[in-house]
Formats: sequence, structure tokens, C-alpha cells
Amino acid sequence: MAPLVLDGKKLSLEIEAQLAERVKKIKEKHKGRAPILATILVGSDPASMTYVKMKGNACLRVGLEPQKVEMPETTTTEQLAAKIGELNRNPDVAGILLQHPVPKQIDERFCFDSIRLEKDVDGVTTWGFGRMAMGERAYGSATPQGIMMILNHYQIQLSGRHAVVVGRSPILGKPMAAMLLNANCTVTICHSKTHNLGDLVRQGDIVVGAVGRPKFIQASWVKDGAVVVDAGYHPGGLGDVDLEGVKERVSAYTPVPGGVGPMTIATLITQTVEAAEKW
Ligand code: NAP
Repeated sequence: MAPLVLDGKKLSLEIEAQLAERVKKIKEKHKGRAPILATILVGSDPASMTYVKMKGNACLRVGLEPQKVEMPETTTTEQLAAKIGELNRNPDVAGILLQHPVPKQIDERFCFDSIRLEKDVDGVTTWGFGRMAMGERAYGSATPQGIMMILNHYQIQLSGRHAVVVGRSPILGKPMAAMLLNANCTVTICHSKTHNLGDLVRQGDIVVGAVGRPKFIQASWVKDGAVVVDAGYHPGGLGDVDLEGVKERVSAYTPVPGGVGPMTIATLITQTVEAAEKW
């Protein structure tokens, strides 16, 4: 049977159409005023600039107001935390996104944790992570939450299956593993110190590539019939998984591009709309 393509682009457009209707209602309640998603970009990393622009454009498509906050490369932790404090206090700001990564001199964790839980629509705070891991209400980290959304949309069976997550970053691998565990998967988390990586990946009914290295997960590591989620995105349209080598024999996969990327943005916007509905 042909593998199922987990089409994040298509799903994100459907989600945006529904969100636009919800934003209309929010605006009616607030005399035409649109809730704001504040996006903070520190420095001028070209990839980060592109991501922030894409997130701003997604806001405009559904009727939210993006507020671009740009801070210089030399920004200190105190200056960034003070800016976040200002946005926390601004009642018109429904959500705050601090684009990762920030320049080295900044304590990123401290700044993430300065975001009020109610405005943490990108799901980056320690408190939000803890609540999510405990199965309590919280905005999930946008990329893994988007992955859960696409797996659920395509009715991929999770309960009882073995998920192997390659990567353990605070915004992706770790929350991904916790979300899959909450969905009753048996979860293996792999990282740079893992031995026998190929053997572990081969056990995965669901394999999540979240490594940040092009085609790092080799085709021979992926078993027939597995579900492959590729969070990577590299020049030339490559993911973290050698998708070309597995496409024909897996049961489902997220394409690169058009899989996880659009779902990350759709999740950020969904969570901003949820926050704005309480506005
Ligand atoms: P990251 O912070 O660099 O984390 C990479 C993870 O991979 C780390 O946990 C690291 O292990 C692990 N790793 C590195 N080398 C390894 C090796 N040889 N064997 C096994 N594990 C290894 O990256 P990230 O932010 O999580 O992003 C991962 C990927 O997802 C990137 O390709 C990124 O572009 C993509 N991404 C996409 C989106 C999207 O919206 N599409 C959003 C976020 C990220 P250690 O912890 O041991 O160092």
C-alpha cells in the first residue's frame, strides 16, 4: 500500500480558515481591535528573521496583529527580560514569542521563563513544560504540539506503540517524548551520547527525527511500516531523515518541506487564538 503523506501544509490551511472565523468573533467582542502576538527577535540571524516573518504573515492571514519587537545583537538578559515584562503587562498582547536562539550572552532559559504562562503561546516556559508533562492544561511547545496535531488528524495509532525520538532539546525532543508518553506510547529518547542508535531507531513504530543534521537518520535504520516524522529542515529541502530512502516502505511520513514546518506555525497561531479568546 502507498504510504500516507502527512500533509502539514494542507492541514495548516484548514486550521487557519477555522482560526480566521474565531478571530472575527474575538474582534467583534473588542470593538474591532485585533489581539496581538508579540514576536521578539534579538539580533539578525537570517533564518530567525525568516521564521519571524513567516509567523507574522500567518497572524495577518487569520486577522491577528503581529507586533514585531527587534532588539540588537548586544542585548543583555536584563534588557530582554524587561521587554518581556512590558509585554506581559500589556493587556492587548495575547501571546509572546521569543525567537530561539538568542545571542550567547543572554540567559535564554531565564528569558523564556519570564513569559507569563497565560501568554506562553509558543510553549517554552519551564512551568508550562511541567504542566504539559503532568497532563495538565498548558500551551505545548509549538513544534511537538504541531506534530501531535498532525498525527491525531491522520488518526495515526499511538497507544501501545514504540516511539523513538532522536533529539532531546527543550523545545522539541523532550516535550515530544512527554507528549507521546501522555498518548500512551512507549518512548525511547536518543541523543548524542546514545550507543547503538541505529538498533534503537529500528525498534521504532514511530520515529521522530529532531537532530538538526541533514539525512542523519539513515534509511537502513527505519523499519518497514514505521511512521516517520521529520522535524528537520535544511538547505535543499532535506530533513533529518533520509526520506528518499524510506518513502516507499513506511506506512506514513511527513514530507520536507510541507510537513512539520507549517504545523509549527499553525500551532503557534492556534494557541495565540486560544489565549486571545480569554482576552
Ligand atoms: P538542537 O537544540 O540542536 O538539538 C539537537 C538534538 O539532537 C540534541 O538533543 C542532540 O543531543 C541530538 N543530537 C545531536 N547529534 C546527535 C547524534 N550524533 N546522535 C544522536 N543525537 C544527536 O536542535 P532542535 O532545536 O531540537 O532542532 C532539531 C531539528 O528540528 C533541526 O533540524 C531544526 O531545524 C528542526 N526544527 C524545526 C522546526 C520547525 O518548525 N520545522 C522547529 C524547531 C526545530 P544532545 O542533547 O546530547 O546534544
